Amino acid sequence: MKKREFTLIELLVVIAIIAILAGMLLPALNQARAKARAVNCVSNQKGSTLQALIYADDFNGMLPLVSKGYTHKDGHKVKSWADFLISTGNMDGQAKTTGCPSMNAKRRASSDEADEVTFTFGTWGEAATVNGTYGTPAVDTKPYAASVIVEVASGNSRFLNTGAAKSSDSLVYLQDSISGATSGADQSYFIDGTALQSYRHSARCNTAFADGHVDALSPEELAGRLKSNSDYGASSNLASFKYGDKNNVEKTQTI
Ligand SMILES: [Zn+2]
Repeated sequence: MKKREFTLIELLVVIAIIAILAGMLLPALNQARAKARAVNCVSNQKGSTLQALIYADDFNGMLPLVSKGYTHKDGHKVKSWADFLISTGNMDGQAKTTGCPSMNAKRRASSDEADEVTFTFGTWGEAATVNGTYGTPAVDTKPYAASVIVEVASGNSRFLNTGAAKSSDSLVYLQDSISGATSGADQSYFIDGTALQSYRHSARCNTAFADGHVDALSPEELAGRLKSNSDYGASSNLASFKYGDKNNVEKTQTI
């Protein structure tokens, strides 16, 4: 019996069907991958905040925000909350667990800051200059009420005083961050209005609160949390905040 062979047309039809099926499946796979990263990001924020809370347990409820003025035992200058926790032995120094898995995990590599972990989730602890007077009405840089902020080392470092907080369950500690609304921007350990909150996970920003829980918030939902908590600054300081949307375009949310 003569063996039947595929014609070229049949082969092309089969290839076309496979291409169509792959085209249908790929968006679903990409969506699943994005979802997995968002879940992984929540897990990283929870782990980071837990380690900060363990530090706070031993030091009067203080969560590190920005940590300039400290020197790591290997000699490099500390800046970020993450590097501060690494220098105190509360964190193991794995850069990939202190930031968003949708972004590059890496360390700063400039000369006097080699090994510094700064490409991390962002805190609201830093103004344009960390030595500036705390309390200037600029919500993007200083949204916390002065009562929950402690400055040490001549104003070079700031801590969030959870012991003085009235509602730690809506007091922001860490957020997804972007160093600016420009292409190729990295994460930033501080959020100051130029470095922005990032709503990269399906238009939501993973946000860890001072009580240790993490929520994926829309800008409107975050505005609601800010409005209802007196641990944030005077209403004149809380008119709006800037953020980067899922495409890293700068937007403003009214509070
Ligand atoms: Zn993230």
